[in-house]
Amino acid sequence: MKKVICIGGGLSSSLFAYQVKKNHPSYKVIILEKDEKILKRVLISGNGRCNFFNGDFLNGSYPLRFNFPSKVKELISENTIDEFIKILKYEFNFSYYSDSSLRYYPFSNSSSSFRDILIKKLNEVGVETLTNSKVVSISPKNKTVNLESGNLNYDYIFIGIGGKAYDRDINENILSNLNIDVNPYESCLCPLYTKNKYPSLDGVRIKGILHLLINSKEVYKEEGELLFKKDGISGICIFNSSLFINEKSKNVIKFNPLCHDNVDLTEIYREFNYDNLVSIFPDKLVKLLLKNREKLDINELLNFFTFEIKGKYPLKNSQISLGGISLNEIDNNFRLNKHQNIFVGGEIIDLHAICGGYNIGFALLSALRASKSVN
Ligand SMILES: Cc1cc2nc3c(=O)[nH]c(=O)nc-3n(C[C@H](O)[C@H](O)[C@H](O)COP(=O)(O)OP(=O)(O)OC[C@H]3O[C@@H](n4cnc5c(N)ncnc54)[C@H](O)[C@@H]3O)c2cc1C
Repeated sequence: MKKVICIGGGLSSSLFAYQVKKNHPSYKVIILEKDEKILKRVLISGNGRCNFFNGDFLNGSYPLRFNFPSKVKELISENTIDEFIKILKYEFNFSYYSDSSLRYYPFSNSSSSFRDILIKKLNEVGVETLTNSKVVSISPKNKTVNLESGNLNYDYIFIGIGGKAYDRDINENILSNLNIDVNPYESCLCPLYTKNKYPSLDGVRIKGILHLLINSKEVYKEEGELLFKKDGISGICIFNSSLFINEKSKNVIKFNPLCHDNVDLTEIYREFNYDNLVSIFPDKLVKLLLKNREKLDINELLNFFTFEIKGKYPLKNSQISLGGISLNEIDNNFRLNKHQNIFVGGEIIDLHAICGGYNIGFALLSALRASKSVN
């Protein structure tokens, strides 16, 4: 009987374990999770609603949402995406909906529905789950996974330990015996520190169009909401731009607050007075603008919303971490080139996306694709 060890009880490991056990009922499939419960991250995802996928995977526009568009296109095939939807609909009988931005959520709007269905399916096929089981290293020569409490031998491993952001701190030693390139971990999907600061606007939100310029060249554009912070800026469009920021270059965000939701005031707004401003901006911002009225005209108003980026907030303020296992180390079946019986999936791979269900989507799709090569 072959033994398949899945390291980490997150989304990618769970789907991999389920698929392998379903396709090979005689195999022993074990999930090792360091915490007291599996799939804890699902509960906090999407503000408790778990935005687990995006319709862009179906319409083909998903590569542009990732940091390495051509690589993700190679790794995620249409067949895998179709199969995932079939599993969701016909095996899991899972009810979901997608909003106007094609973000998929459980119909219940509760992330626990997604966690519960995965746990139910793992139990149905007979995957074993060992919690409070922290893996400290892998010995590929002896084919053992080493825990704090002893060793387990394996025929196949799946590494789905996630990244280093938010409340996580993965043990990098797990990868150290594998002789593979692991790119440094970096904050991502996080607020940004800016050179120009507006502490009086802390907590103020404005809508508009964001343009991220790196060395004066536009690399990202999005309509969204900007949230002022004492020392920088936040909001989903700011999180998203953090995926493309290159800290070695000059990063500038220009934010046009006069244009959103198909209303464009850029041309008609000319008078700089309270009556005009008050219907456009929140009160605190109007006060600041009026204080600076001598200096600002309409064009300068737009410049006022130019932010020179000083850096990213730390990992603990990030939703995901950039970095992890280099894409050069894996084949198109998510198998390590140097260790053909070790698969990897999800956030531990250095392939990441903006908010909107793409990261969980990738964790699930990578696991599904990898599971096909277990024989
Ligand atoms: C607040 C927040 C909200 C988010 N919301 C969304 C969202 O709505 N949509 C979206 O697409 N993405 C979202 N993300 C990102 C998303 O959660 C991750 O991309 C996704 O969970 C990655 O899945 P994974 O399987 O790679 O890793 P994880 O889900 O992080 O699972 C890894 C598991 O491995 C375990 N582990 C780690 N080290 C060891 C070890 N040594 N031994 C044993 N077990 C170990 C961990 O405890 C964990 O359970 C959010 C992230 C955060 C922080």
